[in-house]
Amino acid sequence: MNPDTPLALAGERVFKGIPASPGFAHGRVFIHHSVDEAPPVYPISAEEIPSEIQRLEAALIETRNQILEVQERISNAIGAKDAAIFDAHLLVVDDTTILDEVRRAISADKLNVEEIYSRVAHRFIVQFSQFDDPYLRERAVDIQDVTRRVMRNLLGRGRQTPTNKTPAIILAVNLAPSDTASFQRDKILGFATEEGSATSHAAIMSRSLGIPAVVGLRDVLRFIHAGDQVLLDGTEGLLILAPSAETLAEYERREKIRDQIESGLEALRDTESATLDGRKIQLSANIECPEDVPSVKEHGARGVGLLRTEFLFMREGVLPGEEEQYAFYREIVEGIAPDPVIIRTLDIGGDKLFRGIGPQREDNPFLGWRAIRFCLEETALFKTQLRAILRASAHGPASLMYPMISGIEELRAANAILEVCKEELREEKHSFNEGIEIGAMIEIPSAALCAPLIAREVRFFSVGTNDLIQYTIAVDRLNERVAALYAPTHPAVLRLLRLIVEAAHEAGIWAGVCGEAAGDVILTPLFVGLGYDELSTAPASVPRVKRAVQSLDQETCRNLIEEVSSFDTSDAIFNRCLSLAKSAYPELL
Ligand code: PEP
Ligand code: MG
Repeated sequence: MNPDTPLALAGERVFKGIPASPGFAHGRVFIHHSVDEAPPVYPISAEEIPSEIQRLEAALIETRNQILEVQERISNAIGAKDAAIFDAHLLVVDDTTILDEVRRAISADKLNVEEIYSRVAHRFIVQFSQFDDPYLRERAVDIQDVTRRVMRNLLGRGRQTPTNKTPAIILAVNLAPSDTASFQRDKILGFATEEGSATSHAAIMSRSLGIPAVVGLRDVLRFIHAGDQVLLDGTEGLLILAPSAETLAEYERREKIRDQIESGLEALRDTESATLDGRKIQLSANIECPEDVPSVKEHGARGVGLLRTEFLFMREGVLPGEEEQYAFYREIVEGIAPDPVIIRTLDIGGDKLFRGIGPQREDNPFLGWRAIRFCLEETALFKTQLRAILRASAHGPASLMYPMISGIEELRAANAILEVCKEELREEKHSFNEGIEIGAMIEIPSAALCAPLIAREVRFFSVGTNDLIQYTIAVDRLNERVAALYAPTHPAVLRLLRLIVEAAHEAGIWAGVCGEAAGDVILTPLFVGLGYDELSTAPASVPRVKRAVQSLDQETCRNLIEEVSSFDTSDAIFNRCLSLAKSAYPELL
C-alpha cells in the first residue's frame, strides 16, 4: 500500500487500516514473527557437539524455571497440594536416563538437538503409555508435557515478549490465538497487523485488555521496522510512523478527553444495569485467564459470561492435565464469586490451532474439525476438561457451555459424557455442584433455526455472534478482504437473533449474547428491543454498555425492532440503530 499522506505532517507517514480496539498508544515497535511449528532436522559437525549440548542445558534450565513459575502461581492461588503435580514434571526435566541418551545420540548421530530430543522423548512416551500400571501410564503424559516445553524453548518459542523490559506496540503480519496467548500482557501497548479483522483474536484480546489495535494494515511491514517510534490510533484505525511533535500533542489532547469520559463511566461501577423503565440486563465479561479477574470487578461486570478455555491450552504450550485445569478454573471461579462464571469447553480448531492436538491443516478450518466436534471424538481430553470444570463448580457458581452446537445430537452426546464424568467423580468422592447449569452457544445457523428444540434441553443460550454472522452471511471472520461484508445488522442475522431469544423465552430459559457485537453500543438498542437477558463483553466495554442500557427504554427499543424488521439492507438497520444510539447517549459515540 502507499502510505496515506493527507493527514501526515512533515517526516511522518500515516497508514490506514481497520479500527479493531479504540484508544491511542505511542511507543516503539516490536515485530512478532509467527513461528513455523515443524521442528527442523539438520546435521552438525563434531565441533558443534558441545554447543548443541549447551543448547540442551540452556533449554532445560528455562523449562525448569517455567515449571517452577507455574507451580508457584498455582500454589499461591489454591494451595501447595494442587501444585504438587509439577514435581513430577520437574523430575522428568532432570531425568538422567532420558538426558544421557539424548547426549549420547547427539554425539553419535551428529544431528541437531531438537531432532534428537524429540526422538528420544517420543520413544519413552510410547514405552510408558503401553504399561498396564495406570501410575506408569500417567508418566507418559508428564513426559509429553515436558517435551513440549523443552521443544518450545529449544526453538526459541518460550513465552514471546517484547525483547527488553519496555512495553511495545506489537506489529505482525497476523497474530494467531496461539501467538497472543504467549505474550506477556503487561508488555503490550497495542497491536497492529497487516491481516486480520475486528473479530480476529488479537482484536478481541486488545478490547479485553483495553488497549488499542488496528488490523488490515496491508504491506505496512515494508515500511516499518523493529524499534521504530509509532503512534497507534485504534479509534480511527491509523498507524503513524515517526509522529511529529504536533501530532503527539494533538493525541495527548484527545487522550485527556477520553480519560474524562472514562472516569465519568467509572462512577457507574456499582450502579445497576437496568433500562430507564427498570428492565435488568445482566452485564458480564468475556475473559481468558485468572489475570483478567481484577478487570472484571473494576469495570463493574456481574460475573463472567464467557471464559474461553482454549487459551489455557495454548498459553502453556502443553496440554494441561486435570489438576492444572482444575486449579485454573477454580482460581477464576473463586475470584469472581459470588457472581457466576460460564466456562466454555474447548473451542479448538478454526484459527485456534495447537501443536500436537486437534486439527493441524484443513482446507476449510472454520467448517472443519472444531470445538464440540473435536471434543466428542477426543473423549479422553474432553473428559479431563469436564472433570476439571465440575470440580471447580464446588467452589462457586460456575456453569458450563458447549461451543459450536449445530443440533441436538451433539448436545446430547456431550451431556452423556458429562454424566460419565459426574459418576466417576462421585465414586472418587470429589465434590462438585450436582445441579451445574448447562448451556449451548448458538453460533451456527442450524442451531439458531432449531433453537426451540435445543432450548428444551439446556438452561441457557449464549449467542456467539462472531461465528453466527460469519456462518450466516458466509463471510470469513478473519479475512480483511471481505470484512466490509461482515454485517451484524444483516436482516438475516436479525431474524436469527429474534428466533433464538423467542425460543429461549418460550422454553423458560434465559438468552445472552457473548460475541463482540454485545460490546458495540450502537447495537445495544437491538439487543434490548429483542429482549436479551444478558450481554457479555470485554471487561473494558462493560461501563459503556451499562451507560447505553441505562439510557434506553424498552418500548422505544421494541418499536425499533418492529420498524427495522421490514428493512431490507444491513446499512438501513445499522443507521436506524445509530440514530437511536446518538439520541440516547451521544457522549458514547
Ligand atoms: C463467538 O463466536 O461469537 C464467540 C463468542 O466465540 P469465539 O469468538 O471464541 O469463536
Ligand atoms: Mg465462536
